[in-house]
Amino acid sequence: MGAMVRAAVMPAPRAPIEIREFPEPDLPPGGALLATALSEVCGTDVHLWHGRLSGVPYPIIPGHVTTGTLHAIRGSLSGIDGRRLREGDRVAFFDVHRTCGRCAACTVHRTPTRCPARRVYGITDPAAEGLFGGWAEQVYLEPGVVIAPLPDRVSFEAYIGGGCGLLTSVHILERAHLSLGDTVVVQGAGAVGLSAAALARRSGAGLVVVIGAPQSRLDLARRMGADEVIGLDGTSAAERLDRVLALTGGLGADVVIEAAGSPRAFEEGVRLARNGGAYVVAGHYTDTGASTINAHHDVNRKHLDIRGCWGSEVRHFLRALRALERFGGEVPWQDIGARTYGLGGLNEALAEAESLAIPKALVDPRLG
Ligand SMILES: [Zn+2]
Ligand SMILES: [Zn+2]
Repeated sequence: MGAMVRAAVMPAPRAPIEIREFPEPDLPPGGALLATALSEVCGTDVHLWHGRLSGVPYPIIPGHVTTGTLHAIRGSLSGIDGRRLREGDRVAFFDVHRTCGRCAACTVHRTPTRCPARRVYGITDPAAEGLFGGWAEQVYLEPGVVIAPLPDRVSFEAYIGGGCGLLTSVHILERAHLSLGDTVVVQGAGAVGLSAAALARRSGAGLVVVIGAPQSRLDLARRMGADEVIGLDGTSAAERLDRVLALTGGLGADVVIEAAGSPRAFEEGVRLARNGGAYVVAGHYTDTGASTINAHHDVNRKHLDIRGCWGSEVRHFLRALRALERFGGEVPWQDIGARTYGLGGLNEALAEAESLAIPKALVDPRLG
C-alpha cells in the first residue's frame, strides 16, 4: 500500500469540512502529482458550502486554483510553453481540465466556458474520483491538464493572492475593450474587484474608481491601482452617482465593471456608465435575485453595451501569469490573501470568507 494523502472534504452543503485520507494515486502516462504549496478559499467555495451551485457532486475536495511543486511525473510532461517539466518544478495549472471541444459552445459560439461537459478542479469532480481539489496535500494532474511553470519572480503567495479573481479579471478586461485614457468604475473591492482595478490601471485607464467596503479593502484598492475610492458605508446610490459624475465631467464612466454580486449593484451600475459606455457584469456567479432597471433610460436611449463574463479560459490563465511577472513588483497581490489556514482550520476559514471579514483566506496543507 502506497502513501496516504490528507485532504479536506466538503461532504454536503452546510456540513462541516472533514479531513479524509486518500491513497496516493497510480499515475497514468502523462499524469502528475502536485505537492500543494497554497490553495485558496474564494467566494465560489462559500457558494459551494451554501449549496448554491447546481450539479455539484458532493462530497468534493474544494480548492479550484492551486499552486505548488511537481511531486511525481509519469513519463514525459510538458508545460504550456512546450518545455519539459521536471519533478520539483514550481508550477500552476489551469483549473478547467476538461471541455468537449465539439459542442456548439466550444466550436460555433466560441464560448467554451459555457460547455456543458466542462469540468473544473475543486467544483465539478467528486472526491470519490480522487484528488481533484486543492484543499489537499497533493493534487492529481490528469493527462492533458494545462500546466505552466511559475515564473521565478512570482511567489506562491502572489499567485494565490491573485488566484481565481485575477484570472476572472483578465477575462473582464478582455470583455471591457478598454481604450487608452478610459475612466473605469469597479463595483466591489473583493478579490475580483481588486485585481480588476489593478489590471484596468495597467491596461491604460485614465482614471480608476473603486466602490466598496470596508475601508481596509478600499485602502488595499488604492495600493492595487485605484485613483479614487468611494465607500459603500454611509453613502446612498444617488450620492455615489453624483461622485462618479463629478469625476467624469458629468458624463459617467466609459466602462463599469460589476464585481459586487448584488442586484442593487447592477441597478446602480447601469447609471454609472456614460452614454454609449460598456458595463461588464462578472459578480453574479450565483442567483442573488432580480434587478429592476428602466430599459428606456438605462439601456436603450443610453446606447449602453452590457456584457456578461463567465469563467476563464487558458489564455486568461497565461496572461494572469504574465501580469504577475510584469506588475507583481508594484501590485501587492500577495496582500489579498489575508490569512493562511491548514486543512484543519477550514471551517473557520469558510466562516470568515462567508462574513466577508477578509478579502481571501489561503490554504496551506503543510500547516496541518
Ligand atoms: Zn463543449
Ligand atoms: Zn475561485
